[in-house]
Amino acid sequence: MHLSRFPRYRLGHFPTPLERLDRLTEVLGGPEIWIKRDDCTGLASGGNKTRKLEFLVAAALAEGADTLVTQGATQSNHVRQTAAAACRVGLKCHALLERRVTNQGADYETAGNVLLDTVLECEIDFRPEGLDMNAEAEALAETLRSKGLKPYVIPGGGSNPVGALGYAACAEELVWQADDAGLRIDHIVHATGSAGTQAGLLAGLFALNAPIPVTGISVRAPRERQIDNVHALGVRTAELIGARGTLPREMVVAYDDQVGPGYGQPTPEMTDAIRLLARTEGILLDPVYSGKGFAGLVAMIRAGAFGKDERVVFLHTGGSVALFAYGHLFSNQKAA
Ligand SMILES: *Cc1c(COP(=O)(O)O)cnc(C)c1O
Repeated sequence: MHLSRFPRYRLGHFPTPLERLDRLTEVLGGPEIWIKRDDCTGLASGGNKTRKLEFLVAAALAEGADTLVTQGATQSNHVRQTAAAACRVGLKCHALLERRVTNQGADYETAGNVLLDTVLECEIDFRPEGLDMNAEAEALAETLRSKGLKPYVIPGGGSNPVGALGYAACAEELVWQADDAGLRIDHIVHATGSAGTQAGLLAGLFALNAPIPVTGISVRAPRERQIDNVHALGVRTAELIGARGTLPREMVVAYDDQVGPGYGQPTPEMTDAIRLLARTEGILLDPVYSGKGFAGLVAMIRAGAFGKDERVVFLHTGGSVALFAYGHLFSNQKAA
């Protein structure tokens, strides 16, 4: 694997820290829990989309684009990081926000990521739930083209093989950090949505011949569909990297027991997980992705999925900005 063969524009603070969570490990009674701080990538409060955008933005610049077009749910961390990336490289950004979550109160459409999108001068249009959002983004790009602009369309979550290269790079970074510290990693766990993070990680680990098991905690799709999505993108990403052989489907492990009532819908396990990590380690998760991902890790630990002396890395994918859109879950009145 030699990722310098692909155009890349540096947007983030890398390597992100790999830290041991001593208090959490003690509270849960093992395994040894580590955290990979991809919430600290540095781009307008960071998150996992920054790694993907380094490759996607470079591709846009190589094409001579003047506008990034993308889409996501209203509180999309991906849209916020894309808007920030556009500012960094002097492009415009136009985003479509899908009203996928409509029952979380007034702050949901104005606070958190939406507020930052506005600060970052991202042009926003809303769409009702249930449309083919990538098709909507293509249609918007066509309109912009007819006005003489040169849009570059980034799919939802930045999840195509070019974006997933960012997580192949993360796999390499993580293996290098672990080897440098003499640390054996037995397992990686993280939240999975549009599939690019897990697909890129698996493609990278496959290409490196570093068979660390990765478990994705789905935040939206049922288990089988999520596995299909991750595998399909993982195969294409491994091909792009030039890995030998086809990424085996058995490498893709995902669970859907933290989805609860649906995407962006709170669960008690998620709010407990957010409080647990905040109060043991001072680290903030988010209600849509990393909170459910971390709840999935806690559930696996309680179910005895790991040995007491094993080392598990939780990949923190970011998103804490969205806490401000879900304030009602954590307000003092609620706790009292
Ligand atoms: C997008 C996102 C994810 C999911 O990553 P995918 O590559 O879409 O699977 C996880 N956590 C956060 C905070 C995100 O914004």
